[in-house]
Amino acid sequence: MKTKELLAPAGDMESLRQAIHNGADAVYLAGKKFGAREYAPNFTKKELPEAIKYCHLYDVKIYVTVNTIIYEKELPEALEFIEFLYLNQVDAIIVQDLGLIKIVRKKYPNLEIHASTQLNTHNLSQIKVLEKLGVKRVVLARELSLSEIKKLKTKMEIEVFIHGALCVCYSGQCLFSSLLMNRSGNRGSCAQLCRLSYKLLQDNEEVSTSGKYLLSPKELNTAIYFEELLNSNITSFKIEGRMKSPEYVGCVTKLYREIMDNILKYHVPSFHSQNYEDVERMFNRDFTSGHLFNVGSNKYMNITSSNHQGKRLGSVIQVTKDKIKILLEDELNQEDGIRFQNEDKGFIVNYLYDKDQKLVNHVDSDKIAYVDNKIALKSKGIVLKTIDKKLINRLKDYPLKKIAVDFKIKAHLNDLLTITITDGINIITKEGSIVNKAINQPTTEDIIIKKLGSLGNTPFEASNYDIDIDSNIFINMSELKELKHQLVSKLINEREQKIIRDTIIDNTKVLPDQRKIKANINITALVRTKDQLEACLKKNLDAIYVDNKELYENYKNKENVYLRLSRIMKNYEPLSNQKLLIGEIGALNEYSKNNELVSDYFLNVVNSENIKFLEENNVKRITLSIENNLENIKEITKNVHADLEMVIYGLPEVMIMKYCPLNYLINHNKGVCKVCQDQHEYSLLDSYHHKYPLLNEKSNHLTHIFYYQELDYISKIDDYIKVGVRNFRCDFFKESKEEVENILDKLISVKNSKVKDN
Ligand SMILES: [Zn+2]
Repeated sequence: MKTKELLAPAGDMESLRQAIHNGADAVYLAGKKFGAREYAPNFTKKELPEAIKYCHLYDVKIYVTVNTIIYEKELPEALEFIEFLYLNQVDAIIVQDLGLIKIVRKKYPNLEIHASTQLNTHNLSQIKVLEKLGVKRVVLARELSLSEIKKLKTKMEIEVFIHGALCVCYSGQCLFSSLLMNRSGNRGSCAQLCRLSYKLLQDNEEVSTSGKYLLSPKELNTAIYFEELLNSNITSFKIEGRMKSPEYVGCVTKLYREIMDNILKYHVPSFHSQNYEDVERMFNRDFTSGHLFNVGSNKYMNITSSNHQGKRLGSVIQVTKDKIKILLEDELNQEDGIRFQNEDKGFIVNYLYDKDQKLVNHVDSDKIAYVDNKIALKSKGIVLKTIDKKLINRLKDYPLKKIAVDFKIKAHLNDLLTITITDGINIITKEGSIVNKAINQPTTEDIIIKKLGSLGNTPFEASNYDIDIDSNIFINMSELKELKHQLVSKLINEREQKIIRDTIIDNTKVLPDQRKIKANINITALVRTKDQLEACLKKNLDAIYVDNKELYENYKNKENVYLRLSRIMKNYEPLSNQKLLIGEIGALNEYSKNNELVSDYFLNVVNSENIKFLEENNVKRITLSIENNLENIKEITKNVHADLEMVIYGLPEVMIMKYCPLNYLINHNKGVCKVCQDQHEYSLLDSYHHKYPLLNEKSNHLTHIFYYQELDYISKIDDYIKVGVRNFRCDFFKESKEEVENILDKLISVKNSKVKDN
């Protein structure tokens, strides 16, 4: 393969064409299900084989995302889909679900697997675990800096996002949209709550902030710094944007293709300013070089607007009930999109008028234009152009990529005419009829070159000719044309059919788990304070997870006390003979031999294959994802009888962020942030008046956002016992000792009554 790859997104066929013809080395896209962008058009089962062939024709690789968590009942359908892709010669699949990776690796040994960014891979230990699972490439977490990436000494191929939208939360770790809107980010249906407005509260008092989009990052753009990325250990450079327009995909791909080529050929990271400007005009929320280049929050976030910024079009100089008068600084065309910055309102210009209020379709820069006031605009101010129709039309008209081919022609008197076409890899020869002597006009080299060289609508262009002909011969032009046509069709076919695959190992039949589900019902708890810990000890809980290293140190000799590890691990201190609650897979590599492991709900466990994977890695007890419903747990326990735990009460975490809102909004990024560790309580307030507490993880300076209300399934414990869950966890947050005792008393008494009933 090429050592460095430009990877572009495709939400539909036209985006795919834009990506290819503007120079992508590879594209990624999704079918109608199991892709992390459910609201993109995506590809039908009829379109997918076409898309794969089209990519291969142009020597472009194609990766299909199957990067959602997969519920138990969906496993067969997901596998069926993967088999379909496999037989249709997809180059790789991009997967989030560890259970799915495990089963795909077994069944399709030749299928390349890429670990989705949804797996939140951010250190070498995690990469080692994925390597053992048979993953060929990892799409790294967007929180890693280039210098951290460079330190990853691994044979694993590394893929990194270089352009497009950013998440504020570590990918695969966001439950906000899932809990509040029932639209799971882990299922491709994120409602983008990070783009909404919030207020920051300090001890329930509003803190004034310069903007209201407190969770909205800018768009990643690394064009200017690209040389550093290209000269690193990164293999694949990924553009985000399966939900963006084909023209967006085209112009971003074009820009990075130009930069990559210039660096590789001339060692100069240059680009045409027009190409950069096109990218700017198509979509941006302001640009940032992101965590890749360690920017501070002020350069990462755009809290003043979560919309496309557009480009300054001019200013409003008069507003009436009917018309808005604008002094233009850029041309304005019918069907452009405009937005009035002050009132944050906009529309598509269907009717455009010149200075005399005459209907026109174009007004020049520096002139006066009128538009209808159909939005009840009241104030003057800056107007932005958010959709540039003329630009879009220009981007729609892109030159098609051509593949260079060589022709070889042999025409000797009384011998068969033979023509060969080659693209450098495939060599195809066709024979025609016997070559005769010319009666009138002999066929010359020039005539042959002209005929063969006119490749019109084919994907090819003729590069070299090797002509070996006798003089004074005659070749029938329609025969030559027909031979050329056959050669071209055969070559297209050869290029499209790249690899023949048949190895499918049918060893995935699930045998019933011979183990008995254990009888005991256990109560466990997650605690953050000494009071909570003491209360749990008093109630004799089966396991107590301590989310506080110092506190844990004082109690670690108790046999039921566990240390809860972070789900973002920069390094792994040596630990042995400890009881650990792990939040990410690197711990499997580091701690599974000498410690007792329980896995946390952040591992997104929603199927039996994922459970088996964790059990094989020495995890004794597995906490189910809080995205499971009763029905799915029931399906899981039909296939596996592991020791399962669930959170039955408590405040779930909805986000974990590298960004510290307090450092940005209160400390104004001045020096080391101490705000998040002061004595105040901080939270975010949304427009429904839900209050989401913030909590800082001291060692990593990471910010956790909690849900606005506790989940409480205590009264339903019986249902969960019936489907085979045996461990029930309470997550305590700010509860006092008494509150903890009350909740535990309630849970214990419900449990006891249910156990008696059964
Ligand atoms: Zn902070």
